[in-house]
Amino acid sequence: MASPHQHRAVSSLQALVQVPSVSHPDPALVDTAAFDQLLDVLRERYPLIHERLEVTRHSGHALLIRWAGSSSDRPVVLMAHLDVVPVEGQGGWTHPPFGAEIHDGMVHGRGTLDDKGQLVTICEAVEGLLADGFVPAQDVWLSFGCDEEVSGGSAPEAVRLLRERGVRPWFVLDEGGAVAHGAFPGVRAPVAVVGVAEKGTTDVRLVAQGRGGHASTPARRGPTWRIARAIQRIEAHPMPASLPDATVELLTRLAPHLPAPLRSLMSRADRLRPALTRALLAAGPEPAAMARTTVAATTLRGSPAHNVIATRAEAGLNIRVAVTDTVEDVLTHLRRTVKDPEVSIEVLDAGAPSPVSPYLDEPAFDLITGAVEEVFPDAIVSPYVMMAATDSRHFTAICDRVYRFAPLRMTKEQRESIHSYDERVGCQDLVDGVAWTRLLLERLPR
Ligand SMILES: [Zn+2]
Repeated sequence: MASPHQHRAVSSLQALVQVPSVSHPDPALVDTAAFDQLLDVLRERYPLIHERLEVTRHSGHALLIRWAGSSSDRPVVLMAHLDVVPVEGQGGWTHPPFGAEIHDGMVHGRGTLDDKGQLVTICEAVEGLLADGFVPAQDVWLSFGCDEEVSGGSAPEAVRLLRERGVRPWFVLDEGGAVAHGAFPGVRAPVAVVGVAEKGTTDVRLVAQGRGGHASTPARRGPTWRIARAIQRIEAHPMPASLPDATVELLTRLAPHLPAPLRSLMSRADRLRPALTRALLAAGPEPAAMARTTVAATTLRGSPAHNVIATRAEAGLNIRVAVTDTVEDVLTHLRRTVKDPEVSIEVLDAGAPSPVSPYLDEPAFDLITGAVEEVFPDAIVSPYVMMAATDSRHFTAICDRVYRFAPLRMTKEQRESIHSYDERVGCQDLVDGVAWTRLLLERLPR
């Protein structure tokens, strides 16, 4: 048996990580040469995909690829994104972020987990199956966006192209969940979480205007004070909490693996919803975010000078809308809470939570979890609601079953390295990820 280091998935990932394909919200500031190079690497590493499949390049450097199956009545879409977030200085990195060096059985570098690792699991599986002469039972589409990290237009464009061709996917699989080790206190087994929904991201601006004037003769209750009071009120009055069904399902599935006192409590999660919700809210910011819409005051703006009172003050709010709320619910709550007619609430971007994809008695979900049980037999499998946003949210417009799962083992440290430093993936884990994707494709039903 060759060691996992020698698997071609590892050298493919190294070649891809070495290309700094960093996206930027301003298209003029994107290093297009890097993206050109990344597409060259994909062509070199995956000749059969490029020769035998129908490859459409769109939105600059995004790819939409069709692999014709024996049938096209239940097409599936596998997604990954080609871009990565920038590296701030070299701060914190033990090994060069674009070096793709192997240390202790792991490939180190930006994008190894987010999301070039997943890209490699998909491409290696497809290339390998093509080499074996395999024909999938259903059409398989590969959608590789180039601007996920900056919420760019390539995923919506892929959706438009699919719609134009009359493709209504049976299911869509994107990044999101993982085989997470150490995710839940007291649970020793890894938990393979498959995202069935994601919170919405809504951006709002609070604005107050007034006389301003000279700082030596300040009037009371100016714009700055109004904004400060509004932020304080919002923090003091969070949105009502509620547990989504998928979260209750997760807690119920974890129950048998918990220490005794918690085990019996969690196994009755459904009946104990109110008590569990309170417990999550008290358990810290991460569990609390599972149980409600969160509002974070982020950008602040006021006076430009020390001796000038602001005539206009504003605060940006980044809101993560729970699947149990709507954007309208949130705005109503904000207006009631701020309770100040002189503070206007402007919606900059109204991102609603995604619909919840089915997971009970659902063949598409069972196909995904069945392959998990085979390749990751030690893992507990469960649906969950994602806190972060993915490109797959755009696909809910054409598909009812959108799942978010990377077939990669990730420790807590590895999950924390995403968008941070020392991002890394295990060589063996990458090889297992390829095996998982291959199994999924082999098992598509007729
Ligand atoms: Zn990502």
